[in-house]
Amino acid sequence: MKIEKITMFHVQLPMKFNFKTAKGSLNLRDTIIIKVESPKGLSGFGEVVAFTTPFYTSETFADSWKILEETYLPEILKKEFSHPFEIHEFFRSPLPMALAGLENALLDLYFKEKNENLIAGLFQEKLADKIPRGAVIGQMSDEQTIKQIDRLIKSGVKRIKLKISPQIGTDLIKKLVKRYPQITFALDANQSFQLTDWPVIKELDELGLDCIEEPFDIKDLSELKLLTENFLTPICFDESVQDLESLKMLTELPFKTMLNVKIGRLGGLYQSQKAIEFCRQHQIGFWIGSMVESGISKILHVQLAALSGNAMAGDLSDSKHYFDQDLIKPEISFPEGFMTVPTGAGIGFTINEEALNRYTVNKLSLTSLK
Ligand SMILES: [Mg+2]
Repeated sequence: MKIEKITMFHVQLPMKFNFKTAKGSLNLRDTIIIKVESPKGLSGFGEVVAFTTPFYTSETFADSWKILEETYLPEILKKEFSHPFEIHEFFRSPLPMALAGLENALLDLYFKEKNENLIAGLFQEKLADKIPRGAVIGQMSDEQTIKQIDRLIKSGVKRIKLKISPQIGTDLIKKLVKRYPQITFALDANQSFQLTDWPVIKELDELGLDCIEEPFDIKDLSELKLLTENFLTPICFDESVQDLESLKMLTELPFKTMLNVKIGRLGGLYQSQKAIEFCRQHQIGFWIGSMVESGISKILHVQLAALSGNAMAGDLSDSKHYFDQDLIKPEISFPEGFMTVPTGAGIGFTINEEALNRYTVNKLSLTSLK
């Protein structure tokens, strides 16, 4: 592969509501879209999903933009390579989200050149025709939460993940599980409980939850080896597993584990593919999360959720859930709670370049020296 031109777009997508978690809130999504262009006239797109503040992982929008501008993009324009995964050998201690966005753009281009679907081609696997929608509800009043759940159930959702924190407590969760036996619940605490709160988490074990994600504020996964009491609900890992080394640690924990797969956090599809293969080999349930992100990144997650062996429905919702307008055509949508999985070349859908330009507040193009 040889890249002739790369453009970075700083996009600001206005959100329909304020999304609140235990660690922060968001009402405008700043994101970086990367477009790579080949001498043959084809282009590929990827998204860098870092947030403007380090509330999720330490990498911020500003960090990603800087390293892309100063290091990754100039280097890529100088190189020739046979597969996008080779870029993971070019950079030492890379910033995961910045490199993932660039890798995703190169993969989109690579598979468009082969006229093959990116995820099906990478995994050499036939994707499921349809996937179910899972929903995430941020923290809000009890009344609003109930309204949201009623609305989601009407739209066909059968699995809802609630964002929780010690301030919210567990009473509401117990009530909701009782009130809605027709769906299943998962919880995500974004590491807001202390290990000393274990009795509170233990109370939730009898509710038959699909999983409890990132309950504890821990520095090292090995701290969880202390939780040797019998606990049936799988504990799911998101922000505390950012590489394959920490994923390997999950096999040493004394309870059932799951991995929430997000391409940006894991540093690209190279690591995500390895992580999924590791989970398959070691009975770690994997399933597909997502961030507040545009369809350019989310559509890849839709296709990962169509791989065999997903442990539960992904956190994947309609483009219209967060944004008035997405950056892909068609937009992501789950009529009756299911989405038909795209199988087109590259990321599977077309980029809405008109929308991309409309929401771009800054851009930077670099070209290779002829
Ligand atoms: Mg999470």
